[in-house]
Formats: sequence, structure tokens, C-alpha cells
Amino acid sequence: SAADSQAFSLAVIPGDGIGPEVVAEAVKVLRAATAGEAAGFELTEYKLGAEHWLATGETLPEETLAKLRTHDAILFGAVGAAPGDTRIPSGIIEREMLLKLRFSLDHYVNLRPAKLFPGVPSPLANPGEIDFVVVREGTEGPYVGNGGALRVGTPHEIATEVSVNTAHGVERVVRDAFRRAQSRRRKLTLVHKHNVLVHAGHLWRRTVEAVGREFPEVAVDYLHIDAATIFMVTDPARFDVIVTDNLFGDIITDLAAAITGGIGLAASGNINMDRTAPSMFEPVHGSAPDIAGQQKADPTAAILSVALMLDHLGLPGAAARVQEAVEKDIAGRGSAARTTSEVGDAIASLL
Ligand code: ATP
Ligand code: MG
Repeated sequence: SAADSQAFSLAVIPGDGIGPEVVAEAVKVLRAATAGEAAGFELTEYKLGAEHWLATGETLPEETLAKLRTHDAILFGAVGAAPGDTRIPSGIIEREMLLKLRFSLDHYVNLRPAKLFPGVPSPLANPGEIDFVVVREGTEGPYVGNGGALRVGTPHEIATEVSVNTAHGVERVVRDAFRRAQSRRRKLTLVHKHNVLVHAGHLWRRTVEAVGREFPEVAVDYLHIDAATIFMVTDPARFDVIVTDNLFGDIITDLAAAITGGIGLAASGNINMDRTAPSMFEPVHGSAPDIAGQQKADPTAAILSVALMLDHLGLPGAAARVQEAVEKDIAGRGSAARTTSEVGDAIASLL
């Protein structure tokens, strides 16, 4: 039918630990938020992650990757073994599944909003208005695996991890950051360390200057990564859009999550803005094996990831409804502990 042909096809990867618990609530909220939309969502679940590796020895088979490519978007929970689980080689899931997904699907924009919602305590004494987004480059930098080690295990060992930055890769993420700044408070901050990392740093700086000419209304600021961490604690209100490389972005987004109320609220999108492959939306937190299976996880980060996904899919109304329902729920949160599904139910019922 016409309605079927309009449906969005969504891949769901619940993963390990609390992944399936928070994803169940995210799907509940997705259903509630899109009940009135013309286009529905058809969900296909994929089993991937540490548990799947233990059962099958598979990380991300080519056939699965090919199937994932056919969807409009991917909703992801979390993957990873419990610390100390020696049955799984360290880093195999991260490198052969997560990074492989990001690189194969060309997720060059890693988007992480940082907003301090009313009612959420910040560890900062004077947080002020915190509402910025970090645009972290997702496919280059020191994460590409370009390096090696000589004389391993000897006192003369040399290990290199070469950061790769291309004009193409830097320009596309910088342009995305400028576009986001243009539609927000029109301020862009480049975070790097160009006084020391001169080759990559100058490419980033020159690119920001060049692309910035297309966005004359956007004010541009440059901060070294060390200064940026200070301002994030002393004056986070100064930030609107931050653009930065893969490694600095990794670090600064954890700091951003910490000042805005923590890991239970931090959402992210791994986005291919050229739409040549599906983008993937996920909570920033990991599989949290310490609380898995106990209905203790906060599903809010996964639910806010659904809002990012709806926005990316061209459903800004539904995205705003999810965002508002979350803000309402957070504002009304008391000290009483709620289960994972109670939080999901509360947000869904606000929709
Ligand atoms: P990864 O390597 O997958 O990033 P991690 O080691 O960074 O994992 P997380 O799995 O994110 O760790 O968990 C870090 C801590 O935060 C744990 O104590 C965990 O219980 C807690 N935590 C993580 N996510 C949530 C959540 N949604 N709700 C409540 N607590 C959480
Ligand atoms: Mg982590």
C-alpha cells in the first residue's frame, strides 16, 4: 500500500548489557511519537556485540553489513563485554564492529548535543545556560589504525599512531558544523592544538577560515584543546557549536556529558550527511555490565537519540515532541528511583 511504501525502515541493534533494556524504551517512545505521522517505522532487529561473538564468533559479517546498508537509519544500544571477561579479546568488538560500522557507513559527523536541562544537577557550581553541540569528526584522525610498533616488548620499542586528516574529510565536517551554527546561535568554535600539531592543525584552521567565508553571520573562535577543557568548566555558556577532530572530540564530549548531568542523558548520532548510507543513533554510554538486567539503567540517553534520529529523517515535529516530553519528565523527576521501563512509560505517556 501507499502507507507501506512510505514507511521508514529502521535497523535495531540492541547489543549487550543494558543495551536491550534502554533500546526497548527508545522504541516505545518512537512508537508513541510517530503514531500520528503518515510514515510509519518498520523495525528489523540485528544481533551483534559481545554476546553474539561468544555465541557465533562473528563481529560484523559482510552480509550483515550489506543488510544494514539497506535501512534508512540504525538505532543502536551498546555493545561490550564485562570488564575482566577474558573470553573476548580486548578491543575486538570496538575495532571490528563499532569502528567498522562507522568507517563503512561513512559516519563522518559524530553529533553530541550537550544541554543542561532544568531540574538536572550539574557538578559545576555556576553552570549557567549550557546548550551546545559538539560536531566530532568520525572517520579520520588517530582512529584510522595507521601506525605500527617496532621492537615490541623491548626497552627500545617504538609505537606510532598516525593521525590522518584529509582536506575532503575536514572540509565536509567543518561545513556541517557551520550549517548547524547558522541555524543555532551562530557561533562556531574550532577546538584543536594547532600550535603543536602543526600539520593537521593548520589544515583544520585554514579549512575553518575558508568555509567560514560562506557563513559570514557565524562568529568563529579558536581554542586549543587544553583551554577548551578549562572553559567547559568555568564558562560553558560560551559554546554554541564546537567542531573538532576524532580524538579531541572523544574526550571533550565525555566532559560535556559530565557537566550536563551525566552519562544517563547523553545522546549521539553517527551521521552520514551525504546520505549514501544509513546513519546510526545511540546513547553515549556503554553496556554498563554492573547494572545490566536489573532495570536500573536510565533510558533517557537512548530516547534522546531517537529525537536526533527523527530530526535526521526529516521529522522535526516528532523530534521536538520527544525532546519536550523528555524535558517535562526530567523537570518532574523526584528522588524516588524508577525502573528503566517506568521512565520509558512516563515519557511515552507524555506523548
Ligand atoms: P564503554 O567502554 O562501552 O564505553 P564504559 O566503561 O565507558 O563502557 P559504561 O558502560 O558507559 O562504561 O558505564 C560507566 C558507568 O556508568 C557504570 O558504572 C554504569 O553503571 C553507569 N551507566 C552507564 N550508562 C548508564 C545508564 N543509562 N543509566 C545509569 N547508569 C549508567
Ligand atoms: Mg566509555
